[in-house]
Amino acid sequence: MSTLMDCTDDSFNFWGRNKLRSYYDLIANILTEELGYIELVAATVNLMLCETIQPGASETAPLAAAVNLRNTHHFIATAQTAFVGNSMGAFGHGDSVFSSSNLVPDRAHNSFLECGALLYKIRVYQMTTNPVAREMIACLLVHGGVHATAYAKALEPFMAVLMRKLLPIPNIEKSNVLEAREYENMGVGRHLYRFSPEDYKQIICIWRGLLPSGDGELEMVDGPPEGRPVPDLPELLEEFAPGLVPEEIAEIVKKFATS
Ligand code: MN
Repeated sequence: MSTLMDCTDDSFNFWGRNKLRSYYDLIANILTEELGYIELVAATVNLMLCETIQPGASETAPLAAAVNLRNTHHFIATAQTAFVGNSMGAFGHGDSVFSSSNLVPDRAHNSFLECGALLYKIRVYQMTTNPVAREMIACLLVHGGVHATAYAKALEPFMAVLMRKLLPIPNIEKSNVLEAREYENMGVGRHLYRFSPEDYKQIICIWRGLLPSGDGELEMVDGPPEGRPVPDLPELLEEFAPGLVPEEIAEIVKKFATS
């Protein structure tokens, strides 16, 4: 969420986007990748929350177990779905955004956030043995390195230090994230996915050359990566979600079909 909110603000408030097209293209396209990330995280969280609470009739207080769970509010504010907040339940509120519209500090902040986000992810990985969570984190660790590298390369014309030589932070390749290897072998750690057939073409001025490790070429890929089905969440009667009985849903479909 921190990098998503930061590059949303950066791309919406970008000064001189025609003069600095390659930089604008980079930040705007990375934003679309970040949107994909949060959908992936939400789908994973939703699957992990399935059957956290056993269904039951109202008189049995089926949500009572949530009273003693760490974040009770999660079960009050959502119907056992992803929560827009941090691990302590604090809502995301944009405090990670730094958008001065000055190219150099804004890209430096992007880079700083990306490296921090990768460190946080790898620590969360160390907190769980859940295979679904580990798979999702591994995928984001590998592709998250792409953003850290892209911002480091974007800064190079302005810096005496080659920031890409500081990378990777953290060094995932040398870690025990076994699930990451599959994504590395697929090239996910080298690919920026261009989400529009007509836009963001000048990213290529920045996203080219070798990976900082020297192990493979950076590559622009036209179109999004291959996806997977997003789960259709079943109704949860005790959560009043979606809050309609099957007859009402059939009635809505009929009304749309005839309107
Ligand atoms: Mn990112």
